[in-house]
Amino acid sequence: MAKKNKSALHVKKGIEQPPQVNKDAAERFSNIRPQDIAADNYVQGILAGNRTLLSKAITLVESSLPRHQELAQEIISGCLPHAGNSIRVGITGVPGVGKSTFIEALGKYLTASAHKVAVLAIDPSSTHSKGSILGDKTRMEDLANDPNAFIRPSATAGSLGGVARKTREAIILCEAAGFDCIFVETVGVGQSETAVHSMVDFFLLLMLAGAGDELQGIKRGIMEMADAIIINKADGSNIEKAELAQLEYRNALHLFPATASGWEVPVETCSAFNKERVTDIWRIVDRYQSTMTGDSNYFYSKRREQMVHTMYESINQQLRDSFYGNEEVKRRIRKIEKEVLTGKISAYVAANELLAIFANKK
Ligand code: GDP
Repeated sequence: MAKKNKSALHVKKGIEQPPQVNKDAAERFSNIRPQDIAADNYVQGILAGNRTLLSKAITLVESSLPRHQELAQEIISGCLPHAGNSIRVGITGVPGVGKSTFIEALGKYLTASAHKVAVLAIDPSSTHSKGSILGDKTRMEDLANDPNAFIRPSATAGSLGGVARKTREAIILCEAAGFDCIFVETVGVGQSETAVHSMVDFFLLLMLAGAGDELQGIKRGIMEMADAIIINKADGSNIEKAELAQLEYRNALHLFPATASGWEVPVETCSAFNKERVTDIWRIVDRYQSTMTGDSNYFYSKRREQMVHTMYESINQQLRDSFYGNEEVKRRIRKIEKEVLTGKISAYVAANELLAIFANKK
């Protein structure tokens, strides 16, 4: 993290904030705690592209304190009418496949073409590994120093559902701040792909040649979610192997059912390290967007479906939180669990009993 306040503009507490937050005022808020800034200031600042306020707002989104959540929701409501004007791209692949190298190469190309790039990450494992994804500051150094890029490591706390919700909300804030290319990175080894898939327009799967699907931990389900499969590290002595893998994946995809959108999933090779064919892959994303916003309007109907999905996810999450946070449930769940372990009662009976306790019927 950068040193707290390098600004010469010191804002004393209690001084009324100006109604308009321009870029010159960017540092004005840097030494104020996130919860001490008014929602209006946040919204105006974010809409003006103030990165300090954007970062602080994401911190609020990530916080589990009810007071922070309340403010976060107010900010999101203010930003929502200004969100949505972006292409959201999910990127997955096993650690080491070259995700950050790829995002950096693509991101630099996009910022040079007058785009604004935000990179977010979903990594539910990071609670244990202390941030295996984007946590390492040396990753994407070039892009991180680019004034037209914004890189935010994964929110570490909480369940996958919680992290997914926070990322969805961070997307809204980034879009309102004018970022028109949003990348959501995830490690391709678990459930997080499904979560990412449910919040992006286009899902890119990065693969390596000759590693074997099993070794890459990529399940068939993940391949089915992909809108493009990219075989990275197609350079040096690896080119031939990469092209062979390309053929194999193309053949394998023929056995998959047709996609709902009618999109034919391309399989391409690239070298993120040498920045070769990375821009070609962006052209695929572009082609997807122009095709899917055309007659079929699939692009927007998918986004609407994702919103419905988010609604149900949010209900599930809140029910789960309030169930496990219920004092009576917390008091009795261990004992009932023990009864299941010792075979005294069945799992179903135990579940029903706990749900009845939650519903205050017992
Ligand atoms: P991530 O864990 O998926 O984000 O992978 P990284 O981007 O950190 O890359 C892992 C390693 O592979 C690094 O040492 C990169 O320099 C290297 N790498 C990434 N892309 C390429 C590529 O296209 N070709 C070659 N030869 N190496 C690459």
